[in-house]
Amino acid sequence: MAGYDIQTLDTLMTAISFIVGAMVGSFLNVCVYRLPKGESVVKPRSRCPKCESSIVWCDNIPMVSWLMLGAKCRNCKTPISWQYPLVEAITAALFGAVYVRYGFTIASPVYMLLSAGLVLVTFVDLTDWTIPNEVTFPGIPLGLVCALVAMFVPGTNLMILAPPSVPIFSALLGAVVGGGILYALDKGALLILGKRGMGFGDVKLIAMLGAFFGFPAVVMIIAIAACCGAFLGYALILMQRSKGEEETAHYIPFGPYLSFAGVVVMLFGQYLYNLWITNMGIEILQQPY
Ligand SMILES: [Zn+2]
Repeated sequence: MAGYDIQTLDTLMTAISFIVGAMVGSFLNVCVYRLPKGESVVKPRSRCPKCESSIVWCDNIPMVSWLMLGAKCRNCKTPISWQYPLVEAITAALFGAVYVRYGFTIASPVYMLLSAGLVLVTFVDLTDWTIPNEVTFPGIPLGLVCALVAMFVPGTNLMILAPPSVPIFSALLGAVVGGGILYALDKGALLILGKRGMGFGDVKLIAMLGAFFGFPAVVMIIAIAACCGAFLGYALILMQRSKGEEETAHYIPFGPYLSFAGVVVMLFGQYLYNLWITNMGIEILQQPY
């Protein structure tokens, strides 16, 4: 192709990924709002929750419209939450990052879909304290199907960290071990502390991530999520103390931490693993001279 080179094409594809991500994010906003209520995410069209006037297409451009309208409904001037452009911006950034990381491969659309699911999980868990089955129920089999496909189509293996020769085995192991660890933690907390550690939604979520990323990676995801959870949980307690507030036993949603850890492993898993191996002094990844 005269006049076009790979770099131009890549820049264009990254931009397209970003825009598609923003549009998907716009749809995710509808899902975050309606799924916990059991409403249809397809119809009716988006409305202002206050005055119920339909949102015209030109006021529904991801991120841009929110800024143009000054974060208010055009009709009744009710403030529109910053959560809407935030969800759109995060989804757009993730789609762009996935393309930058994986380029023109089968991994890109799969991980974009997964990213969208994780954004949805995060914001439903933050606002409704549930993890939607609408994500995990199709997500677990989809992860397993991807692993199965990888066995027959060369170059489609999505298993992160030390790719096994039998991806479906890694995916099954990831789902079972990941789900098992969280299930054990949940039951353990119930036995020892007399309260629930986390919900069964978290068990299904980590089973889904295990199905997508396989066995060794799922342990890394749990470790990263636990570290972030402990760090932020402790920061919250310190903040309450400094404000002189009574320390209350909050339910802290674990879904956002698991989702965040899933994204970290999706984008940087291989890099982190190599770093770890190198620092351990094990030079198995180095080519022999
Ligand atoms: Zn309104």
